[in-house]
Amino acid sequence: MRLVVLPGDGIGPEIVAATEAVLEAASQRFQLGIATTRELAGQASIARYGRPVRPELVELVRAADALLLGPTSTLDYAGEPGPSAIFRKALDLFANIRPARTYPGLPGRLGAMDLVVVRENTEGFYADRNMAHGNADILVTEDVAIAIRKITREGSTRIARAGFELAMRRPRRRLSLVHKANVLTTSDGLFLAACRDVARDFPEVAVEEIIVDAMMAHLVRDPARFDVIVTTNMFGDILSDLTAEMSGSLGMGGSLNAGARHAMAQAAHGSAPDIAGRDLANPMSLVLSAAQLLEWHGRGRGEPRFGEAAKAIEQAVAACLAAGEKTRDVGGGKGTREVGAALVRRLSAPAAA
Ligand code: NAD
Repeated sequence: MRLVVLPGDGIGPEIVAATEAVLEAASQRFQLGIATTRELAGQASIARYGRPVRPELVELVRAADALLLGPTSTLDYAGEPGPSAIFRKALDLFANIRPARTYPGLPGRLGAMDLVVVRENTEGFYADRNMAHGNADILVTEDVAIAIRKITREGSTRIARAGFELAMRRPRRRLSLVHKANVLTTSDGLFLAACRDVARDFPEVAVEEIIVDAMMAHLVRDPARFDVIVTTNMFGDILSDLTAEMSGSLGMGGSLNAGARHAMAQAAHGSAPDIAGRDLANPMSLVLSAAQLLEWHGRGRGEPRFGEAAKAIEQAVAACLAAGEKTRDVGGGKGTREVGAALVRRLSAPAAA
């Protein structure tokens, strides 16, 4: 597996270092043969090459099997697309898969839950990436701005299919379609119609439709009720920060950006400048994202040892949480490096898990 690693900004280098060590331990134990290439993206790339992602890097990633991207400080790029947007668009990573679950050592803020947000990742209200050229976040006059939200039948169909296929691999086989078709009757109406068409191919999956604002109340009231949640880009972005924090912390928020041929592991959160460089960041978000990447890679190639490695990483996370080997955001007192080392220890010596 040829993996490109980009450390990113803020806490990125810290949690990427911990994740690389976990991947190396997994590669050794399960003989995954992961070959890593380290490159620069984000502020380090701006400092060296004058831009957050240089075109050659996109080609390098395209030629590789997978990408591990640390969080980046997109707010600081003065309107220029950041690495995350560039790779999502260039590699057509249309499905953003964001699981949120509780563990015995991390009971969650509102009780047990085990759900996955499946967020459309290439259109919707992301005006910097839903156009072939230009940016659809437009200043009409000095005092008037508009942004364009794009919804297509093809985009809605493929994200719905990804969600239903995922629901079929999970024991409960439930799926919630989250939308605002009562107000955005045309665009979310199209999204919903495309999803309903896909639902006909998956009669074993129990489907419900929920309006996004009510969804916030339902989630907080009874998070255990939800299994797979399929929604448009920005609703999914917002919803998945909520579900990650409900599960214990945004620092537990794993996230995979997947397309037909490429995938990028990237934590659900940003670069957390408030805690950067202080050994406080929770590396589990990116470690769990990397586990998702291994599972995706193995499933696509029919190589079960990648899926076994992903399970072993999740078990190591669960064991660390249960043993109190955790960072401050999830009620522990350990640093990023210590938690990373504990994960490697438990992964390398499974009896300890
Ligand atoms: P953030 O997600 O970086 O941080 C929000 C809060 O969560 C902070 O209190 C932070 O300390 C905490 N947090 C995040 N990750 C954590 C971890 N692993 N362990 C412990 N605590 C963690 O959001 P922000 O501060 O609004 O954004 C910072 C920068 O990140 C901005 O430049 C923003 O544009 C960028 N950002 C990038 C992405 C992305 O690349 N996908 C996503 C969100 C934000």
